[in-house]
Amino acid sequence: MWPSTSPRHWSGLKITMWGRLLVIADALLPVYIMLSISASEFVYVYVYVDVDVDVDVDVDEVKTMFDIDLSRYRIVDLSYEVIPGTSDDRPFDIRLGTLQDGTVRYDITRTHSHVGTHVETPWHFYQSGKTITDFPLSAFMGRAVLLPFHLPPDDLHISPAYCEAEIGAFVRPGDVVLFHNAHNPEIEQGHFVKDETAVPYMSTDTARWLRDKRIKLFGFDSLRMGRATQETRDIHDLLMHEDVCIVEWLDHLGELGAREFYFMALPYKVRGLDSSFCRAIGVVER
Ligand SMILES: [Zn+2]
Repeated sequence: MWPSTSPRHWSGLKITMWGRLLVIADALLPVYIMLSISASEFVYVYVYVDVDVDVDVDVDEVKTMFDIDLSRYRIVDLSYEVIPGTSDDRPFDIRLGTLQDGTVRYDITRTHSHVGTHVETPWHFYQSGKTITDFPLSAFMGRAVLLPFHLPPDDLHISPAYCEAEIGAFVRPGDVVLFHNAHNPEIEQGHFVKDETAVPYMSTDTARWLRDKRIKLFGFDSLRMGRATQETRDIHDLLMHEDVCIVEWLDHLGELGAREFYFMALPYKVRGLDSSFCRAIGVVER
């Protein structure tokens, strides 16, 4: 008996995973599936299963189960373009490498772990902190909530009350939270304005609000992380003590056009790094 060409499903097998595996095998090879059961007496019992039986898994469904319809989403590049040779402070220099006959080119780079859009880990601040390779990839991706802050010139504090009013109802534990500077549209690609005091700032209270929301990853394009070095350190301490990594120098956050989306910023897999440049993206439902 050869199987029919109609959608075939297994009945009598209660384990769906096995059912799906067997249906896949059946779709590839139009033969009977043979189960071999080894008994303790070394007697092999072969069970032939007739696939023309009642069904509960469709072959077409199996073929498409991992498809993602990208036409339903926009992918927004949230990284800024690093231009080699433009910064002495945070260099990204490229030197040409070739074989002895000069035929093949490759680039030899000299750089800095905080160049461009980058992910910082606790090792950046703590001697016992985790490094890039100590985190699972899931720490760098997930559901994200965007706060586009726009504050009056006489109060530039991105305060906990402001955060709560703007996005407090939407942030869930385990989320990514991104702050977008909609206040200083002239700030692009991580460059700071001349008058830094005109740039909104977060405080230790803001960091405490993020920590208490139990977010897993925090990012921003341009703001002041505190108004003094100690406050900057305290903000990092509050978040990184909870293993919350920080994505700095994001770009194009204004192009997301959505409050909630999927975010990803995967770092290079280099053992022992405190920070790594990354390609940050947002996936937004159309
Ligand atoms: Zn940094």
